Amino acid sequence: MNTIGTADFQGKNVLIRVDFNVPLNEELEVADDTRMQASLPTIRSVIEGGGIPVLMSHLGRPKNGFEDKFSLGHLAGHLQNITGNTVHFANDCIGEGVKKICQDAVTGEIVLLENLRFHPEEKEGNQQFAANLSGLGEIYINDAFGTAHRAHASTGIIADYFPGAKMFGHLMQKELDSLDRVLDSPQRPVTAILGGAKIAGKIDVIHHLLDLVDNIIIGGGMSYTFIKAQGGAIGNSLVDPERIEMALEIIDSAANQGVALHLPGDSLVSREFSNESTVEVVDINQIPEGWIGLDIGPKTTKHFEQVIGNSKTIVWNGPMGVFEMSNFDKGTRAIALAMVDATTKGAFSLVGGGDSVAAINAFGLADKVSYVSTGGGALLEYMEGKTLPGVAAIMS
Ligand code: AMP
Repeated sequence: MNTIGTADFQGKNVLIRVDFNVPLNEELEVADDTRMQASLPTIRSVIEGGGIPVLMSHLGRPKNGFEDKFSLGHLAGHLQNITGNTVHFANDCIGEGVKKICQDAVTGEIVLLENLRFHPEEKEGNQQFAANLSGLGEIYINDAFGTAHRAHASTGIIADYFPGAKMFGHLMQKELDSLDRVLDSPQRPVTAILGGAKIAGKIDVIHHLLDLVDNIIIGGGMSYTFIKAQGGAIGNSLVDPERIEMALEIIDSAANQGVALHLPGDSLVSREFSNESTVEVVDINQIPEGWIGLDIGPKTTKHFEQVIGNSKTIVWNGPMGVFEMSNFDKGTRAIALAMVDATTKGAFSLVGGGDSVAAINAFGLADKVSYVSTGGGALLEYMEGKTLPGVAAIMS
């Protein structure tokens, strides 16, 4: 397989699938450029190698063609500032005009294409659309881990047009290497921490994790379904009635496979989903009618801290409570700090998924864990053991 470290970019247009799906503020300026910064090592490697990066990405979820608020044109100025290179913005991603911009660009310049998803063919994985895109470069790099689980034209399909000239970017390679440190012969004990509101996308991951890990910690909104499954009273806490059966199966499988499943023992509860109403600590299986569990309690926090402290490899996806409200961020903060502590003592710690990443950023701890992944869905699917189309397309 080709690698970005050994490729010859001299004089070539290099088509790079980046993840520039960044938040914009009301003035349509870049509000958080983390994802753009994360792509810089790949962009720089291409420029230093004498190539011309042609960047393609999606932004948001446009419904039907062009919508100004989803235009990548809003990123062009910022990209020029952070790279120091001239950026030519193409107001489409295919067509003769775009081709000419790419051909006219010279070494040291960057071409940024308009939002791929203004064409529905992108998400459909349309072959002709992928072929048209492929005409804009001589080499293809995929550096967008966040969309690697989608078989879209620019991720899973286009690579076929670059036999012998396709590779991962630095960010993608780092993501895969970090995940492999967790999934392939990790240092034990291995602990997976899962939280957040939705149990749906995570339950399959838990099944697969049972083969890999020593501990599974479950907190956040999803934990109440497990407590209810065991016959606990959870008041008005979040529950997924359709997954109660599955929760029981997981509890059973964990016991059969010798995996320690750690569920909360107590909970911070409130009468309303609000930061203003009174907060009480109660046993997790005795939440009174009318009360909602919104964070793990102090006993649980201690218990989870201990498990994390004894771990050598830790992967975390999903907050322990409604961390967006200051009354209910303590559990999530404690988990983040426990991961930092374990990392200082030599553990490998990986955080992924939009909300856990938002939490660790909000706590100012992102640079104190081993790796913060840019992938949410992609990370979960990789952990499930699924082949990601964007990864497979490069490896084939
Ligand atoms: P997810 O998208 O499934 O990862 O869920 C993330 C969201 O879960 C965050 O916005 C949290 O506020 C929310 N969350 C965490 N714990 C709870 C809880 N106990 N009740 C309701 N929402 C929660």
